[in-house]
Amino acid sequence: MIPITKPFLPPIDEYKSYVDSIWERQWLTNMGPLSSDLEMKIKDHLEVNHLLFVTNGTIALQIAIKALDLSGEIITTPFSFVATSSSIVWEGCSPIFVDIDSKSLNIDANKIEAAITERTSAILATHVYGNPCDVMMIEEIASRNNLKVIYDGAHAFGVKVNGRSIFEYGDISTCSLHATKLFHSTEGGLLITSNPEILKRMAYIRNFGISGFDSFAELGINGKNSELHAAMGLVNMKYLKMIHEKRKIITEAYDEKLKTLKAFKPKWHANATLNYAYYPIVLESEQFLLDVKTMLEQHEIFTRRYFYPSLANALPYLPPISLENTDNISKKVLCLPLYYDLTLEEVNLICRLILRAQNN
Ligand SMILES: *Cc1c(COP(=O)(O)O)cnc(C)c1O
Repeated sequence: MIPITKPFLPPIDEYKSYVDSIWERQWLTNMGPLSSDLEMKIKDHLEVNHLLFVTNGTIALQIAIKALDLSGEIITTPFSFVATSSSIVWEGCSPIFVDIDSKSLNIDANKIEAAITERTSAILATHVYGNPCDVMMIEEIASRNNLKVIYDGAHAFGVKVNGRSIFEYGDISTCSLHATKLFHSTEGGLLITSNPEILKRMAYIRNFGISGFDSFAELGINGKNSELHAAMGLVNMKYLKMIHEKRKIITEAYDEKLKTLKAFKPKWHANATLNYAYYPIVLESEQFLLDVKTMLEQHEIFTRRYFYPSLANALPYLPPISLENTDNISKKVLCLPLYYDLTLEEVNLICRLILRAQNN
C-alpha cells in the first residue's frame, strides 16, 4: 500500500531521551523548557524575529485574527484547507472569496482590489503547497487600502522569498506542525510576526489573556502546546535537511518520469526557494483525474484531491458562489504520494501506471 503521505518518525530512542528529561523535570506543559527551546531553534533555522509555538495551525489562524482586532470582511482564497475559511467565520468575520490565478493556484492579487469594501479589514491568503503568493503586490494593496495581512503558511515551512523567510511577510504568518506536514511536532502550529507589540498580544492570547498572577491583559484562549509535542519537534528538527534532500529527489524523479504527461504543475514564485511539501498536478479533465485516481486505488496507491471542492461553494455555513478558475482547477488537481519513506521504485510504479492510463 502506498498512502498519500506518512508522518516522519525519528528514531524512538531519541524521542525517549527527551521524554526521560520531561519525567525528571515533571514539567509537562505551559511554556516549558522544551517548548522554549523549540521556539528558539525554529527561529534560528528560519531566520525570523519572533515566533510562538501553539497547539495547532488552526488556533494560530484564530489567534492571528484576534490579535489584529479584525472585524467585518476578510478577503481570502477559496483554494485552501477548510481551516483558512472556518477560522474567519469562527472569529465572527465574513470570508470574501477572490478567485485564484490559474497558473500559481494562489489568490489572484490582481482581483483583490475589486473585492474591497468599507467593511474589509484584512487579507488572509494561503501560500498553497508552499508556493508563495504575490507578497509584494498584496503588501502594496494592503498599505494603499489600510488593510492587515495574514498569511496561512501551513505548507510553507522553510521557504524563502528574495532571500528572506516567507513568514516575514504580512503582519502575521501562521504555520502548521501537524503530523502530515513537512515538519511536525505531532500536533502544533506557529505564529510568526516581526512586530513585537503583536507578538506580545499573541503571547497573552495564547495563555488565556493572563498577564500576571492577578491580572488579565485581554480576551484569551488556550493555545499553549505541551512538552511532549515540543520534544517531537526538537527531534524532527535534526532531520530537516535529510527530509528536504529526500523529498527533492522524489520530486525530481516525478518531474522526469511524468514529462510526457498532459498536465501542469503550479507555477512557482520566481524568487522563492522550494520546500517539496506536496506533489500537485493539474490534469486535462476531471474525468481523467477520476480514472487515474480509481485505477491507482486498485493498485493500493492513494492520491488526494487537494483542494477539492472549492471552499467558496462547499461550506454549509456560507452562501455558495462560483469562481471560474477555482471551480475549474479544483476539479482537476491531484496530489501524488510524497513522503520521506517513499522509494524511487514506488515513484516509478506510480508514474508508469499514470502514463499507461493516459495512453489508453
Ligand atoms: C493543515 C492546514 C491548516 C490547519 O493546521 P492544523 O495544524 O491541522 O490545525 C490550515 N491551513 C492549511 C492550508 C493547512 O493545510
